[in-house]
Amino acid sequence: MIKRTLFLILTAMSLLTGPTSAAYGIYPALPQTPPGDFEVTFYPVAPYHTGDLLSARVAYTGSANIGGTHITVALADEPDQILETAAFSQNTRQATFYWMYDTRSHQTGYLSFRFEVPDFDLAWTQGVHLLPDLGNRSAAWSSAHSPCCTLHYFTGTDAEADLPEIITALEESSAEVLSQFAAAGVLEENPIQEPLSIVLVPMVIGHGGFATDEAVLTYTHDNWAGIEFTNLAHHEIVHVVDRLINTQGPRPSIFVEGLAVYLSGGHYRPGDALQRGAALLALDLYLPISEIVDDFYAAQHEIGYMQAAALVAYLDQLWGWETFIDFYFNLPEGESDSAIISTALEARFGIGLNELEGEFIAYLETLERDPQVEADVRLTVDTYDLLRRYQTLAIPSAHFRTAWWPPVNTMRENSIVGDYAYREKAPLNLIVESLFIDAHAALDTKAYARAGAALTNIDEILTWVEMSGGNLSHYSIGWPVNLHPRSITWP
Ligand SMILES: [Zn+2]
Repeated sequence: MIKRTLFLILTAMSLLTGPTSAAYGIYPALPQTPPGDFEVTFYPVAPYHTGDLLSARVAYTGSANIGGTHITVALADEPDQILETAAFSQNTRQATFYWMYDTRSHQTGYLSFRFEVPDFDLAWTQGVHLLPDLGNRSAAWSSAHSPCCTLHYFTGTDAEADLPEIITALEESSAEVLSQFAAAGVLEENPIQEPLSIVLVPMVIGHGGFATDEAVLTYTHDNWAGIEFTNLAHHEIVHVVDRLINTQGPRPSIFVEGLAVYLSGGHYRPGDALQRGAALLALDLYLPISEIVDDFYAAQHEIGYMQAAALVAYLDQLWGWETFIDFYFNLPEGESDSAIISTALEARFGIGLNELEGEFIAYLETLERDPQVEADVRLTVDTYDLLRRYQTLAIPSAHFRTAWWPPVNTMRENSIVGDYAYREKAPLNLIVESLFIDAHAALDTKAYARAGAALTNIDEILTWVEMSGGNLSHYSIGWPVNLHPRSITWP
């Protein structure tokens, strides 16, 4: 009700200040911030430089039914020349203007855009401060080919420098994935007819990788998401092969991810799936399967994935690999993942999902507790919870729920690089990210006390950031920072 009233007030205000009202100068004066329920974010993220190819995402948080509503963008001083028109999505309630304006020929200084939502009778201006061209942004798309994979990367990056090692690792991973499926007797011929398309970007987005039609993976020597590249590549290749050969029937997420983590030998880094499942249980972090199976991606990410891998490892041990893959590849249709799995379990083994979980837990409880594994599991969960908190606070464009990940193939076709090639870091970013790198390096060497100390330090910094409303001076958190030595990717 309050929102609706506010909306009516804002709408009324917009009539006063909107395009039809009395004007100052040539064009009507418009509000220089979006009306209450709209939020505009420009990309690539700030700071902006002349030469940037700008995009904008407009999010609506109000109560009106905005799906399908159009919004236009123009330069504020050329309001009649619409640069682009976009529609708000019914699902996300966002409208996106991809690469709406090339600032190459623009002067430095404030660049103002005019946004208009005609159906709502709303218009406003909003812009960015353009800094001078840095003169060092010369990255371009390039590609390399091998039998398994086509690699796309930017020139001048760590990926380009390490290309031979990356290709060897990808060839080995894909051969291993094929042999893992072949061991279950489900591979008559190599299903990879077309080389897999893999894109390597120097920025961390999400947890270090995401898959659309192609796998986009972070590759940088300073990877503060701490994910081992070969592990991530193996994980993504499992998904691709799974999708290529397991084409009949549903693929419940808990098995999709469990299989990828199990076959790649761990989530982010190597670790025995069953031992880690037992550690989750001992640490009281275990999530009942009934609570996560039907909305798997909403569960705490690390716990869900580790548990899913433990379940697949358990079923492999219990039934044998061939039987598990046969079970997973031949699931019946059903209205939910839990119903699908339960029906199949009943038909084949005469038990339900709850009963299976009871036996799974009972088995995990028989495993001997390992304090090192428990420390690793607890710190891994803490690390990625902190990482997402940092992304939310400092770089929402990297957090998976608010990520800026424009279509990579369109970017390649149009030689656009900025959105994935560059991210300028403030001292706060350098301090926090170097602490994350330190925490990952400590976890890799089982130096759990050091990892814990780095995480405590990050937690304190993020708390200060939250308390300061985001206006934190880096001097107060220990500038200058001793940058951690570059992590070693290849032995
Ligand atoms: Zn996955």
